[in-house]
Amino acid sequence: MIKKVMLLFLSLFLCTGILQSAASAAGANPVSKLGVNDKLSDIEPVFSAGRYYVPLRQLANELNWTLTGLKEGIAVAGNGRTLRLLQGEGGAVLQDGTAVEMNTFLEKGSLMVPLQLSSHLGYIITYQPDKYLLRVRNASAKLDDTAFAAKYQQELKPRAAAEPAQEAKPGTPGQTVYMTFDDGPSATTGQLLDILGQYKVKATFFMLGQNMNRYPSAVKQTVKLGQGLGLHGMTHRKEKFYASPAAALAEMADANAALNRIAGAGTTLIRPPYGSKPYFTKSFRDKVLNQGYHLWDWNVDSEDWKYKENSDKIYTSVMEQVHKLKKSKTSPVILMHDQKATLKVLPRLLETLKKEGYDFQLITKDLQPVNFWKDTR
Ligand SMILES: [Zn+2]
Repeated sequence: MIKKVMLLFLSLFLCTGILQSAASAAGANPVSKLGVNDKLSDIEPVFSAGRYYVPLRQLANELNWTLTGLKEGIAVAGNGRTLRLLQGEGGAVLQDGTAVEMNTFLEKGSLMVPLQLSSHLGYIITYQPDKYLLRVRNASAKLDDTAFAAKYQQELKPRAAAEPAQEAKPGTPGQTVYMTFDDGPSATTGQLLDILGQYKVKATFFMLGQNMNRYPSAVKQTVKLGQGLGLHGMTHRKEKFYASPAAALAEMADANAALNRIAGAGTTLIRPPYGSKPYFTKSFRDKVLNQGYHLWDWNVDSEDWKYKENSDKIYTSVMEQVHKLKKSKTSPVILMHDQKATLKVLPRLLETLKKEGYDFQLITKDLQPVNFWKDTR
């Protein structure tokens, strides 16, 4: 009987429109696992429209809650309290009869509820994005958040494990080019990918979280084609990104979460907005790189953002810089931007580099990073 009511409840949820909007809303999820009292659970919270959602059944298992199917929804009992979760857009009714808003949706067959639901049962929720910590606890927890974060330090890392297998071969010093494109994705990423495809060239894309959310299909396409992935933060705003080391880390983590949510991929390669000098000082690098990220700047600046349609200027400048590096057997790391103007100069540049015998490789986490601070982490 209970099962039947539950099924009815779930199927009603399927018919409502709110779940789609909640599930597809843009968001970032730096947290990969939910802490439940003193243990790190296997629950992977989903960040949507500014909130963390968790599968109700899994959370109930972790916290020993009792779920009972009712005609009007589900009764949730735990921590000495109960509440009723109403079907449809009915929200929830607390033990004292107070009605509260509670958006729910289905994901992969699981009913997802806001983690906040547990606060109505008397739990405390803590969130520390810089530590990748999201935790729910009651009086039975012995560890405070600092002790918890220290205990699970190894597991509480950015979601970067899903880094796609990239077929990078070790390049020949001075004869291998690392093409990089910042600030994407954009409305013309597809055309950029087409050009790279025509020349069979691999490049690394340092993408902005906000643009990933705007052009999700471009992100998917980039991943699908096996192009390289990197993070460029969320906002590209100097006063925000460089406000503090924690702010910079949170922007990278949020961008990685967007990448993960959109394309199921992750990366540990980062390039801070405007490059790492002068603002990405030691305190920033310690904070961010100690989380496993690798810092990449460039040694060839195309200035394609500045000269835009002046292809000749961009082309000549890039080739001059490349030839200079060849003398010191240094592999060029070329900075370009994922923008419409760059499409014009790119074919000519790739054509010449190929003719001169350069091969193109992806940046990977195993290469020694090229950055202005010579920070090899
Ligand atoms: Zn940029």
